[in-house]
Amino acid sequence: MATRYVFSFEHKHRKPPMSMKDLLGGKGANLAEMTSVLGLPVPPGFTITTDACRAYMTGGWPDGLDEEVAQHVNGLEKAMGKRLGDPADPLLVSVRSGAKFSMPGMMDTVLNLGLNDESVEGLAKQTDDERFAYDSYRRFVAMYGRIVLDLEGSLFDEPFEAAKQLADTTNDAEVPPDLLRYLVRAYKEIVHRQTGKPFPQDPQQQLRGAIEAVFRSWNGARAVAYRVRERIPHDLGTAVNVQTMVFGNRDDNSGTGVGFTRDPATGAHGAYGDFLLNAQGEDVVAGIRNTLPLSALQEGFPKISRQLGQIFERLESHYRDMCDTEFTIEQGRLWMLQTRVGKRTGVAALRMAVDMTKGRKWKITKEEAVQRITADHLDSVLHPQFASNKLDVIAKGLAASPGAAVGRVYFTANEAADAADRGEQVILVRTETSPEDVHGMIASEGILTSRGGLVSHAAVVARGWGKPAVVGAESIRIHPNRFVAGEVVVHEGDTISINGTTGEVVLGEVELLAAEPPAEFRTILGWADEIRKGRLAVRANADNGPDAANARQFGAEGIGLCRTEHMFLGEDRLPIVRRMILADTELEEESALEQLRVVQKADFEEILEAMDGLPVTVRLLDPPLHEFLPSTEELAIKQATEGLTAEEEELFEAAKQWHEFNPMLGTRGVRLGVIKPGLYAMQVRALMEAAAERVKKGGDPIIEIMIPLTITRPELTMAREWCEQAIAAAQRKAAKPLAVTIGTMIETPRACLRADDIAFDADFFSFGTNDLTQMTLGFSRDDVEGRMMDAYIQHGLLKRNPFESIDERGVGELVKLAAHRGRKTKPGLKLGVCGEHGGDPDSIALFHEAGLDYVSCSPFRVPIARLAAAQAVLGRGSGGQPAGSSTA
Ligand code: PEP
Ligand code: MG
Repeated sequence: MATRYVFSFEHKHRKPPMSMKDLLGGKGANLAEMTSVLGLPVPPGFTITTDACRAYMTGGWPDGLDEEVAQHVNGLEKAMGKRLGDPADPLLVSVRSGAKFSMPGMMDTVLNLGLNDESVEGLAKQTDDERFAYDSYRRFVAMYGRIVLDLEGSLFDEPFEAAKQLADTTNDAEVPPDLLRYLVRAYKEIVHRQTGKPFPQDPQQQLRGAIEAVFRSWNGARAVAYRVRERIPHDLGTAVNVQTMVFGNRDDNSGTGVGFTRDPATGAHGAYGDFLLNAQGEDVVAGIRNTLPLSALQEGFPKISRQLGQIFERLESHYRDMCDTEFTIEQGRLWMLQTRVGKRTGVAALRMAVDMTKGRKWKITKEEAVQRITADHLDSVLHPQFASNKLDVIAKGLAASPGAAVGRVYFTANEAADAADRGEQVILVRTETSPEDVHGMIASEGILTSRGGLVSHAAVVARGWGKPAVVGAESIRIHPNRFVAGEVVVHEGDTISINGTTGEVVLGEVELLAAEPPAEFRTILGWADEIRKGRLAVRANADNGPDAANARQFGAEGIGLCRTEHMFLGEDRLPIVRRMILADTELEEESALEQLRVVQKADFEEILEAMDGLPVTVRLLDPPLHEFLPSTEELAIKQATEGLTAEEEELFEAAKQWHEFNPMLGTRGVRLGVIKPGLYAMQVRALMEAAAERVKKGGDPIIEIMIPLTITRPELTMAREWCEQAIAAAQRKAAKPLAVTIGTMIETPRACLRADDIAFDADFFSFGTNDLTQMTLGFSRDDVEGRMMDAYIQHGLLKRNPFESIDERGVGELVKLAAHRGRKTKPGLKLGVCGEHGGDPDSIALFHEAGLDYVSCSPFRVPIARLAAAQAVLGRGSGGQPAGSSTA
């Protein structure tokens, strides 16, 4: 049977239409639900399905669609007792887009369709209002010209402005009928001149043009950009709704408004919204006239106010959630034009979800409440936000660490730290950051870089601290004491605002909303913990005592990754690591190692104390050398200009010697351990000494030692031996031996493939999905995101940034395969993930599917991971957002 493309709102589907958004689009599905299930007053109409749009996109206008549309128009005409284009009493329709996911204002709409030179007279007679009829016709010709015929809106705006001047008014509604008649003529001439064809008078032709324009608008620039941002797949297509027009601008007994069944900003009970007397929908959206609160309806429209209240209650108990609506009052009669489960702030989402587990009417379960919360909701109550979204954005980068910050711009870590000492709020702006910048990063409110990706140094470190960061803003050019973004030049000391949730950079100070989790935050996360208990644990990536303590506060159940190289990020400690790496003689190396041991022991003790009784995975040193060596470029410049000190000369020589072209794939991880054999033994010693101190103080340290970047079993055998020897030496002195496990990171494709071998020597695996993504896709984690990721996503070559959300079909498959192979060798093998994906809800769903025991992420991300882990256990909450793999 040929595909059916058109369904009336009244059609009795086999399933509740509200669950058929894939086919009918969100708007169509809910119009059908309101009409065919709830029997609410909805102007009759029909929906052309997304199937038709997809067919149109691949093969042009679908066969049979014209006939189906004609049939449904016929039905509509019968129901209304009016005909499209009738010179005596015309039926008018609106043609609106409606995709599966709401894309507000991104696609096109045509109103008042069906008017022509004859039917406009009929409308004038029927309504006894010539002004209204010609104003509707004027609007229709202009809208049709702009949307269907692709003409510039200004072609129509200019004559209208002139007409208003002539009428000596600024109010659209005061343009007299004769001028409106004249305008209609002028508009039609414009259309004729611009397109070479007269304005179509045949309503069937108008309708086909409008439907086609809505199909086309799916791939308009605005819609594509919106989908990229909201991660909505490009291949869904939109449905088209053709609906009988009702007019809120007929007279003072008419009006239009938007209403929510409760307050979407706070979650408070009771109808909320506003309306405009004698107006059409666009007038409310355009915000030209001041709207009245919904409560004001009680005065002029007491009956409608009551009716609307009942409808809101009905909708809320039917959808078991807050709904938003659009309605129109036409000459004292109420019509519902749209409803959907409404968007809400994080605070409102948490309040409503908890509240609705109590009410008799909805009685949602705790599981449903947990499913209704999204990562964005939690983010918005955990981090400060911009108070407004009408902003002058001067640049965009990657949203690397959520939250908003305001401060004065400084370009070096020292200047940033000095300014902070003077009491200034600072945004550190760097091309990229390295451990040398950490003191400046600590002193800053936020960080902006022009290079690097979501797992670059700046991104990982900022995220770990919960500090807002925008990275890889490639469009800005950084000079010694200014940066340039398009036309704008920002000097040192100027104020900017950054939004690490969206990647926006704004000139000047933007007002911020403070982060304030409501009481329901804890309730929801408590329920999430109950759901995921024993199924999927959540740990944190933390490298020092305060971060570990913070992570525990957020609900972390241990440390999944302590990057020991991060313990040396401070200005005072960096030189020790450098000395160790650059040592020429054994003696120099030993002395540097000894210094490292002392500082590490103290740090380990703090972490073990903060996580007492919970597992702490300590990764042995894995420094990409370039992060730890001085910049040869900067030193070369200094040498040529100011000259270098003797110490700097020495460092420069050593740095040149160790320079690597591809340090991310160079002397990293266990490879460094192999060429510096004392290194890992020293670290284990420091760790065991710290543990012994903890035991002495009555603590319960649980240690997991992790070897980074392993690619073969013999590598792990060797590293394991160093660890075991150091553990045995430490245990000899201990009163009570400590059970220590030794495992490895799995972060190369080879390690995944050989996981069965490697598992023989591992007590656990932890997937390092940052490196695994880098190596599986061949995408340098520091280079590709700022430059090419946008283009890849725009062209649909990638659905999402694979450093943000796991590439299910590539990296995800490798994780599953390695998990399976590892457990074949060792059924009880503990499995976790500690790449940045450990805090991404879609990735967490995949990790659960792969059988992982825990995910580990930055401390501020822990609440989101707890929620997402529970949703993964429940079978992934929709949360209203599209999900999906990053690649095709
Ligand atoms: C990883 O590669 O995923 C990982 C956690 O290690 P790092 O980011 O420190 O390389
Ligand atoms: Mg790694």
